[in-house]
Amino acid sequence: MARYIGPVCRLCRREGMKLFLKGERCYAEKCAIEKRNVVPGQHGKARKAKLAGYGLQLREKQRVKRIYGVLENQFRRYFEAADRERGITGELLLRKLECRLDNVVYRLGFATSRAQARQLVRHGHFAVNGKKVDIPSYAVREGDLVAVRDKSRESPAVLHAMEEVKGRGIPEWLSLQADPFTGRVVSLPTRAQINLPVQEQLIVELYSK
Ligand code: SF4
Repeated sequence: MARYIGPVCRLCRREGMKLFLKGERCYAEKCAIEKRNVVPGQHGKARKAKLAGYGLQLREKQRVKRIYGVLENQFRRYFEAADRERGITGELLLRKLECRLDNVVYRLGFATSRAQARQLVRHGHFAVNGKKVDIPSYAVREGDLVAVRDKSRESPAVLHAMEEVKGRGIPEWLSLQADPFTGRVVSLPTRAQINLPVQEQLIVELYSK
């Protein structure tokens, strides 16, 4: 599946907020939002128009897409799947994105960013319920065990990431097991358990036009 490969700090500047796309750097003073929070481009400083209606809805959708590293077509498919289910579409959409394997790996603290998690999954470092899974968009289910595979437990990338993110905390819907290389999906996440400063209802309104 295709992914964005351009400069990522630019995306944060475009959205005017930290999207935490770079791992450790996002928590350091070097973060571009800390240093220069202006919209990128020649006229960035001049672009301070107050957003309303469509503009607001579009920005919210772009934010969520960029946070999870998903491109437009795939994001739309997530929305359509959420829209087909019973429940609050916006919340179901966020739940589907949260349940992506790359996001779960990131949330469990096995990677410093979702982009790194995606790469580690792609390279076959993880197993779900004992079976190797190398598809970043794989949807985990309640009760699933997500583990670093035996042969990857010495991987410098995984060990470094685990050391770096120590103390950042794990959301309530996930838990680390006695074996620190294994996590469990305790339950599917509720909206309250998804710590994202976005208004998903605006995305629903955008796609419902
Ligand atoms: Fe965004 Fe992280 Fe870059 Fe800061 S360092 S602008 S949070 S990607």
